[in-house]
Parts: sequence; structure tokens; C-alpha cells
Amino acid sequence: MAQKGKKESGPTLEDTIFIIRTLEEAGFEAYAVGGCVRDALLLLPAKDVDITTSAKPWQVKALFAKTFDTGIEHGTITVLLHGTGYEVTTFRTEDGYSDHRRPDHVSYTLSLEEDLSRRDFTINAMAFHPESERLIDPFGGREDLENRLIRCVGDPYERFDEDALRMLRAVRFAARLGFTIEDKTRDAIRALSPTLRYVSKERIFEELKKTLMSDHPSVLEQAVDLGLCPYMAQGLQDGQKLKISALENTEKDLMVRLAVLMSDLGENEAGKVLKELKSDNDTRNAVTLLIAHLKDPLPEDGVSMRHLMALIGKEKVPFLLQVKKGVGLISHEAYERTLALWRQEREAPVTLKELSVTGKDLIRQGIGQGKAVGEALQYLLQQVIEDPAKNDPRCLIELLHQHWYN
Ligand code: ATP
Ligand code: MG
Repeated sequence: MAQKGKKESGPTLEDTIFIIRTLEEAGFEAYAVGGCVRDALLLLPAKDVDITTSAKPWQVKALFAKTFDTGIEHGTITVLLHGTGYEVTTFRTEDGYSDHRRPDHVSYTLSLEEDLSRRDFTINAMAFHPESERLIDPFGGREDLENRLIRCVGDPYERFDEDALRMLRAVRFAARLGFTIEDKTRDAIRALSPTLRYVSKERIFEELKKTLMSDHPSVLEQAVDLGLCPYMAQGLQDGQKLKISALENTEKDLMVRLAVLMSDLGENEAGKVLKELKSDNDTRNAVTLLIAHLKDPLPEDGVSMRHLMALIGKEKVPFLLQVKKGVGLISHEAYERTLALWRQEREAPVTLKELSVTGKDLIRQGIGQGKAVGEALQYLLQQVIEDPAKNDPRCLIELLHQHWYN
């Protein structure tokens, strides 16, 4: 049992049982549901635990000391135990998806089976009672787990027509678990792929990111085959231009994987795609920078490494090397060798901040004001990049005098 007062970093079986038992003792039904049941059956660690219950949100709130109204309008309350949130959602049904993305009506139900039937895939539509170890699996989720299949609950055409995002979720789960998308589910995606345009770019980007960061990112090839790419972003029209197979042997870093994926689009097109997908600026800038410098010559010695560090930023160099290796521009040996060179040089001064004189020091030397100071600092920085031993105030002032007054 988790100790009182000790901050827990993830969900525990004890706390899951505690929540379910508390709800049951108050006369309600409650089960673990969805992703945590799927992952437990696959012997994967639980990232989060969702609980489904016949209790209404206000009844859930009344039973637990610490709760948050996370999605109370959809019936979800977060119960906080030992620093971990457990999402507790009332059994519900959904209907009328006139916009292909969210239900027009959400209503509560007293039937667990009805709640399970609104879920996307059979492997996500199982409930589990941890004390009795009873699995409620009305749609054959367990068998599909054994056969490693992603299959819609019910008619796949209807399910994707209701919520087009589910098509990308199918690809994402296939990529994460290394599963195959079942034939009818695939056919339905192929037929309905254009409806993805009704889904917000933010949600599309979230799914793309999760797929890229999975263990089997090359499953993204299926998004191309099934015609999803053009509706994810305009710049992704031509799936042939995406470097998907290269993703498999690329490290799990989002910037690196996005840069590898879009390396053949060039930095401008890649930037447009990321803008369309509403990417944050940091990610967009980092990815376009990596693509822009992809073809730069590989540094072979300290000086050229320091110039590269100054050009793109010290911390970006290992990422650039990973992208170069990922797209096959450099061998593993060249990657290792250059990374070792970077480790050797990474403390070297390559920015004005690291220079051992400041603008004020130079003004005191009578260099003047404004532009001249900036130019002098740049001159000294270049000297220091060439030879870090020169980064000493006295030495730099002397260099300045030689340069300026000769
Ligand atoms: P992950 O481990 O990636 O969080 P998950 O299965 O928990 O996977 P969530 O997006 O957290 O996925 O959703 C929780 C559960 O809610 C799913 O397992 C599924 O039963 C249901 N669900 C989520 N999104 C949808 C959707 N768009 N359509 C139908 N059911 C959904
Ligand atoms: Mg989840």
C-alpha cells in the first residue's frame, strides 16, 4: 500500500481498488476501463487508470476528499490519490455526430455495455474488475489483442463517420503496439479518409506526434497508403516525399523524428506544414533549423565543430547528427566520431555570453559606442572560436588593440 503523505508518481492497483470499492460501497458499479485494461493484458505498465462507473459526477465528488472537475460536462471527475489523478467517468452514450468530430449529445446510462459500445476499438472497449478479476469484454477485445488486431467496435464506417479522428487513432495504436489494422477497418478508413478534414489541426498533430514517438513509427506508411496524409496537412499531399522508413532507426526525439520525416520537403515547406498543424514555435524553429543545416559539411576538427556550435547552438548539434544519420547522410561511425568531437568541444566558448570580455569592457578601452562595440565583440568571438585559449580578458584586449589600432 502506498504510504500516506508520500508522493506517488503513477497509478497503483491499491488505489484503483480503493476507488472502485468506495463507489461500490455507496451502491454504484465501477470498473477499470479502456487503455489501462488493454495495457495490463499486454503486460505493459499502466500510464494512467480510467474508471467507468454508474455514479453521476456529483455522486463521485461526494465520495472522495480531493477531486477536480476535469471534464464534468462529459461526466469526468479526476480523483486525486497519493499525488496521482484517476479519471472517473460516468457510464455514458453518445449520439448525433453531425460534425464528424464530437457527439451532439452525451447522455448517462446505467449500462456498462452501452458505455463500452461507444468506444473506438475492441481492444479499448474492455472493462476489468480488479478485486474479482472479472473481464467484461463484449466485443472480443481479448481475442483481437491475441491476434494483434485493431478493429472497430461495431460497423467501422459508422464509427469513423461519427468521429474522423478515430482513423488516426487506429494508425497510432497500430504504431504503438505493432498491431495490424483489420481489413474492414482499413477499408472504412480508405473510404472515409477525406472526412479527416473536419478534425482540428491540433488534434491531428497530437496523433501524429504520438505515432512518431511510438516504437513502430514506420506504420505511418499506412496513413499514406490509406489516403490520410493529404487531409492531415496540405504540405503532406505527396506521401512519397516523406521519409517514413528512416524513422525506425532514429532516436525517440520529437524534433529529430519530425525533421527526418520532412527532410525532403525542405525547411520552408516543413515550416508551413508545422504552422498548419499549429505546432508551437520552439518545435517549428528547431525542426526547420535542423532541416536547413542537414547538408552542411560534417565537422572534422575542433575549429569546424565550434563554428557549427556557434551557428546552430551547442545543444542542437547532437540532434543534427541524429537527423543526418537517420536520413542516411552519414554512417554510424561518422556519427559516433562527430558526437565524440562535440563532447570534447561542448564547453568551448562560442557565444558572446561566453566571451570573457563584455561590451562595457571594450567601451572602457575607448572603442567608442554602439555599432563599433558590436563589431569588436564579433571580431573577438571569431578569434576565440578559432582558438579558445584566447578567451582571457588580457589577451582579448591586446588582440583588440592590435586589430583596431594597427
Ligand atoms: P493511451 O494509453 O494512449 O492514453 P488510451 O486507450 O487510454 O490510450 P485515451 O485517448 O486516453 O486512450 O482514451 C481512453 C479511452 O477512451 C480509450 O481506451 C477508448 O476506450 C475511449 N476513447 C478515447 N477517444 C475515443 C474516441 N475518439 N472515440 C471512441 N472512444 C474513445
Ligand atoms: Mg489514456
